[in-house]
Amino acid sequence: MMQPTQFIEESNVKLDARHREDLAYISARIARDGADAETIIRKIRAFQIAIPSWALGTGGTRFGRFQIGGEPRNLEEKIEDIGLLHALNRSSNSISLHIPWDIPRDPAALLQLLKEYELGIDSVNSNTFQDQPGQPLSYKFGSLAHTDAGTRRQAVEHNIDCIRHGAELGAKVLTVWLADGSNFPGQQHFRRAWQRTADALSDIYREMPSDWTMLIEYKPYEPNFYSMVIPDWGTSLSLCQHLGKQAQVLVDLGHHLPNTNIEQIVARLMHFGRLGGFHFNGSQFFLIFNELVDAMQDPEVKNPPLAWMIDASHNVKDPLEDLLQSVQNILCTYARALLVDRTGLQQAQEQNDVVAAEEILRNAFSLDIRPLVAEAMRRDGGALDPASVFRTMKIREKLIQKRGRSVATGL
Ligand code: ZN
Repeated sequence: MMQPTQFIEESNVKLDARHREDLAYISARIARDGADAETIIRKIRAFQIAIPSWALGTGGTRFGRFQIGGEPRNLEEKIEDIGLLHALNRSSNSISLHIPWDIPRDPAALLQLLKEYELGIDSVNSNTFQDQPGQPLSYKFGSLAHTDAGTRRQAVEHNIDCIRHGAELGAKVLTVWLADGSNFPGQQHFRRAWQRTADALSDIYREMPSDWTMLIEYKPYEPNFYSMVIPDWGTSLSLCQHLGKQAQVLVDLGHHLPNTNIEQIVARLMHFGRLGGFHFNGSQFFLIFNELVDAMQDPEVKNPPLAWMIDASHNVKDPLEDLLQSVQNILCTYARALLVDRTGLQQAQEQNDVVAAEEILRNAFSLDIRPLVAEAMRRDGGALDPASVFRTMKIREKLIQKRGRSVATGL
């Protein structure tokens, strides 16, 4: 394993004077508005984001991939890569797995490895959007919504397998995203497709341990362009209500039509106590975080704690650098949302003072709070500037030396 500790220390020493100056400035700046830097830093340190095992390689489009080399060849190497990210930023202590790409062969050894890197498995994702080698029935025309009972059964069994593999590694969440849908008008009966899906999900739900959650993801288009069986949050919610309390809606930022008001969706779901998790997949999300933080701080809201996960694909950047950047960006946005003047905003909203309300949001959005995030990482032993340490350590070059032009499983 590459040992980043020394590199982190050297880099932090070099940046120390400048960092202290910036931190003092932002701390004083937010104190003027009654916010306490120590409180914000404590919250940032507690905020952990799961890294997807499928995003450690170069992603791509259906037209192809531009390989970078040094990609993890197995689950052990994926854990190693995420361990490295976590050592640098101390903010990504868990992994989302994708079955069958990440079937654990030796769970005891993997648990040991996870412990060494101070990591855990947060969720398992099933995969019925493609056929696997040796699979008897095809998902060409759907999986849980398929017209054929045998194909539905096969997809149900796969999801139950995912629960079993996840349980061996301490996961507590099953994420279901279905590619089921239709490409042509008339191809699929909408109501019957929903019912078949609901029945199949019930079969899976019954097999979940009582401390597990099923997260149901939606997507309005892709891979089917006429209709998706679960295209929107309303359909996800209807399925969750059908299944029971252990089923929750998963919002993926990248799964909406342009101009969809995602912050309103998030607020609605939390109002119903039905937002279970969040896939970060995109960059414009201050207003969404503002709603999340608002609901998290409101004692009236009974939504359970959320699973925070990245779900992204990297076509042009180094995937590990991109993940470091993403975590940094998420934490900065979270910190800004924490700094919104909630009392002032509520007053402005009650008085219909549109300008004042908007200004309050703008004030928090335009603060440069990066020193608070850097300080949170430093205090946990991470780097003030994780991406620069990644480059100083020549991590990609070393991975290519060790693993060659390997290509990881993923999206
Ligand atoms: Zn997703």
